[in-house]
Amino acid sequence: MSSLKPDVPFPQSPVIPAQVEGSHQIQFSCHKGISCWNACCANIDITLTPYDVIRLKKHLGISSTDFLREYTVPYELEKDGIAGVKFRPVENGTACRFMTPEGCGVYENRPTACRYYPVALLSMRRQDEYVDRQSYAIVKEDHCKGHEVARTITIDDYRTEQGLPEYDDLARGWRQLVLKKKSSGPSIGAPSIKSRQLFFMACYDVDTFHSFVESEAFAKLFVMTEDERTLVLGDDVELMQFAFRFLRQVLFGEQSIALNEEAAKARLENWKVRQVEIEREAAERRAKLEEEMAKEGFNEEDSGLGVCNDEDGSCAKD
Ligand code: SF4
Ligand code: SF4
Repeated sequence: MSSLKPDVPFPQSPVIPAQVEGSHQIQFSCHKGISCWNACCANIDITLTPYDVIRLKKHLGISSTDFLREYTVPYELEKDGIAGVKFRPVENGTACRFMTPEGCGVYENRPTACRYYPVALLSMRRQDEYVDRQSYAIVKEDHCKGHEVARTITIDDYRTEQGLPEYDDLARGWRQLVLKKKSSGPSIGAPSIKSRQLFFMACYDVDTFHSFVESEAFAKLFVMTEDERTLVLGDDVELMQFAFRFLRQVLFGEQSIALNEEAAKARLENWKVRQVEIEREAAERRAKLEEEMAKEGFNEEDSGLGVCNDEDGSCAKD
């Protein structure tokens, strides 16, 4: 039987448990002058999507690498799983660094989670499907007086008002990667440090990923037409979409970027040669260790490891 796996983006907030559709009406309005102005930005826990990072680094006029270093903290979207990034709050505090007395200092490029508030997006995937489904929940926090304002609006219209259709469209590839990784579970095992680093770079550090795609090493391994290269290297959003395809190929074997067969074969050959070298080096180290132990008069029993020769597995030292 298939199961639904909600992905709640406000882990610390009181989410009303009911799942609702986009046609659901909410009573809410947030406006300057309301008694709780800025209260929601004073204690933040905001996960950023790759598209959020692109919008914010452009707004600030800095590279994605500098943005990540200065304004975010990495965290695990789930234990031993995939990398995520959150806003780093002010030094020794919990408030957002973009909060000003007039309101949000990056309003036109504020992240997805800020736009959604007080709605929570529940991105789910049935185990037998690849596509994700969207439904919503409502977040009600005592400090937020927006729920007391007499304005009703459907969630669909609220999303449009907040510019969310564009944000959701451009985050879809990332959400699908996250959901696919989550639902692949322990059978695939924890990803290696290298694959986590690759996921982090491709998803969030678009400027480093740009250098990677531009590199000779990348061109040796992957085949791209000149038009495709120009397209993805000329626009951060195109590059981000390409990064999602790249990760699906590298992490899940869903091939959509042509491989340079010769280079792939050469890599495999190099890998095999390296494996033989590693085994030879390990054998040499072991032989040397055994020689040194023999010189010192150690044998296996002296080493405290015991010798297990009995058929029932009991140890000679027991
Ligand atoms: S980015 Fe803007 S809306 Fe979001 S928490 Fe910071 S100040 Fe508030
Ligand atoms: S109404 Fe809610 S969202 Fe608006 S400022 Fe107040 S706490 Fe923040």
